[in-house]
Amino acid sequence: MAEPGMPEKIAFDGEHLWHPYTSMTRPLPVYPVASASGVRITLQDGRELIDGMSSWWSCIHGYNVPELNAAATQQLGSMAHVMFGGLTHAPAIDLAERLLTLLPEGLEKIFLCDSGSVAVEVAMKMALQFWHAAGRPERSGFLTIRGGYHGDTLHAMSVCDPETGMHRVFSGSLPAYHFAPRPACRFGEPCIAGDLAPFEDLLVRNQDRIAAVIMEPIVQGAGGMYFYSAEYLRGVRKMCDRFDVLLILDEIATGFGRSGRMFACEHAGIAPDIMCIGKALTGGYVSLAATITTDRVARMISNKAPGLFMHGPTFMANPLACSIACASIDKLIAGPWRERVSAIERQLKAELAPAAGLAHVIDVRALGAIGVVELTQPVNMERIQARFVERGVWVRPFGRLVYLMPPYVIEPSDLQRVTGAIVDVLQDITMPAGS
Ligand SMILES: *Cc1c(COP(=O)(O)O)cnc(C)c1O
Repeated sequence: MAEPGMPEKIAFDGEHLWHPYTSMTRPLPVYPVASASGVRITLQDGRELIDGMSSWWSCIHGYNVPELNAAATQQLGSMAHVMFGGLTHAPAIDLAERLLTLLPEGLEKIFLCDSGSVAVEVAMKMALQFWHAAGRPERSGFLTIRGGYHGDTLHAMSVCDPETGMHRVFSGSLPAYHFAPRPACRFGEPCIAGDLAPFEDLLVRNQDRIAAVIMEPIVQGAGGMYFYSAEYLRGVRKMCDRFDVLLILDEIATGFGRSGRMFACEHAGIAPDIMCIGKALTGGYVSLAATITTDRVARMISNKAPGLFMHGPTFMANPLACSIACASIDKLIAGPWRERVSAIERQLKAELAPAAGLAHVIDVRALGAIGVVELTQPVNMERIQARFVERGVWVRPFGRLVYLMPPYVIEPSDLQRVTGAIVDVLQDITMPAGS
């Protein structure tokens, strides 16, 4: 049988492969990728795109990274996988050692799991088991803030923003948890007394029913690409302490330097009781995530019936993923990531600024290696995507947000091509003006 050509393969893709958040009967165009290296994605037809997305926050070193390739190859020579029940291995231990040197103080018990959503599920289960063990099983609810995103699995969806979190269709099958408004105080601004009042009010009224507060620290990602005040996060930590509620911070998007600090909670100088990491953990090579907690939480769960933490995925601590994660962390800390991320922030601020003058633009903001242009209306994805590809850049807007999170290794001249494309393309599209 003749090898099918690319047009046939793409037709097959449209017929049989579900892409993220897409229709199977009205598939949007997808661009076939032949390879990716550095910050360049090469399409099957030979066109090169400069990557502005790090494949959803994860490929912080770019693609085809020699050190990560070497780690993968070397690990394949000994074992790709072995179960973690009753067995252990150097890649997991080496990864835990590295994480301990980076994590906020007090976070020391590490549960390695498959993906970000699973890490969130694990964090919520830890909080529930903590209160069960503490003899307070009625503490089974969660409090969060609006504008959040914590993953696509069923229970993670229950703490995503009910409107922007993309899960409205499931609202009837999800538990109803407590949502405080999105923090009004933005990053870099102080919080005034009233900013935390609705959050405090919910916590006071429901403290006996709440197991944990869960939120993304400083940067809300897929729920709105919004940056809020470090003082707000500090206030939340204080209130969790005062009312003896656990704090879960979801650093899946922000971890490993994206916001300018190794972990975004460092902006507020606080640490959570439970933290989730994922996305950039393996430099975007393979799926791996972790839920990390304190000795206090781990002891409580372990010392009372059932005496075990009730979770254990098949691919827990996959050696291949752990080895690549070690190499990614080594590469990150050996390089000048802080300088690079702050240089990217300065460049994003300067070069996206002209977009602020456009009639259909509400706001332009940047923090760390994250740049956001917020529009009055959702973009026409198919059309805008094609425009970016024509310009030789890979930018994947969503809803009213055109945003960038480039690999940290991007050269200023490449980043300039991406920001330039955004400003030009947004200039050309027409939309009803904002109020
Ligand atoms: C992406 C993301 C998740 C979900 O991670 P997956 O690996 O896609 O399951 C959870 N929380 C935050 C903050 C994220 O950005």
